[in-house]
Amino acid sequence: DAKESRSQLQLYRPGRDAEHLYRLSLVNDLRRAVPNGELLLYYQPKMQLCSRRVVNVEALLRWRHPQHGIIPPDDFIALAEHSGIIRTLTDWVLHEVIRQCAEWSAAGMDIGIALNLSAMDLGSGELPDLLARHLAHYRIDPSQLVLEVTETAVMRDALYSLEVLNRLKACGVMLAIDDFGTGYSSLSHLKRLPVDELKIDKSFVMGMAEDEDDAVIVRSTIELAHNMGLKVVAEGVETEAAMEMLRSFRCDSAQGYLISRPMAAADATRWLAAATEE
Ligand code: C2E
Ligand code: CA
Ligand code: CA
Repeated sequence: DAKESRSQLQLYRPGRDAEHLYRLSLVNDLRRAVPNGELLLYYQPKMQLCSRRVVNVEALLRWRHPQHGIIPPDDFIALAEHSGIIRTLTDWVLHEVIRQCAEWSAAGMDIGIALNLSAMDLGSGELPDLLARHLAHYRIDPSQLVLEVTETAVMRDALYSLEVLNRLKACGVMLAIDDFGTGYSSLSHLKRLPVDELKIDKSFVMGMAEDEDDAVIVRSTIELAHNMGLKVVAEGVETEAAMEMLRSFRCDSAQGYLISRPMAAADATRWLAAATEE
């Protein structure tokens, strides 16, 4: 009937169709990204505010697509999650981060590295075993690694996630709650998680110097985290004004374009060598 054909028309709108095909082809390409060596990690420094030293970086995934060039994670992580490819990507990231950490350590650079996990990674019991194997093989200090998870990811299957987080934590790594403030956060639940660090989402930090509400949220989040014995990282620090406010709020570390953009490994190595020389 008329109603039905109208909805059919909506389903097969040309624009949508092209978008759908593009996504399908991306999923296929993504399956080959790891074996083809198309993934790479960028590293963004995190500065300790009291000492002004950089002792940590966050690894951020990039995909060098043979036709489309560099694709940012926001354009393929969700696809990878829906198609189940994310586990392969995370395994690659985990291995590469630990290898890079060992390489820096061998060069006399004590740099911790944070990496991002997705919700599906917490639904798999294989990750802690893989982590333990890589740690044993590369012999890095496990406390040099920070695993970042979002509140939303943890909430998806809270009981099972907690079990996986506890097993990861037992390997000696650090755990951070990422994008804090953007998801549905139950503080009583947060209290039960074996986390060491809380990262305040950039949406609060970026407008902080202009927006009184954002400043209040950032300041009280820092207080709350400290009262729970957690370290705090602010992401999205773009201005001196934001940096000064974070200092006055006693925030522990800052990450953002003001300090540095994410850099490819070779550039990050040079940057870090120069920064730790001083
Ligand atoms: P995130 O974990 O919140 O990472 C921070 C994002 O903010 C990064 O974007 C970073 O480049 C960007 N950023 C850093 N400083 C600033 C700043 O001062 N201003 C602004 N406007 N942005 C800043 P990126 O690299 O595009 O990553 C986007 C998201 O993709 C990440 O958000 C993370 O959720 C996800 N992601 C990245 N790498 C991985 C990965 O290896 N695995 C998984 N599962 N997710 C990843
Ligand atoms: Ca992150
Ligand atoms: Ca964020």
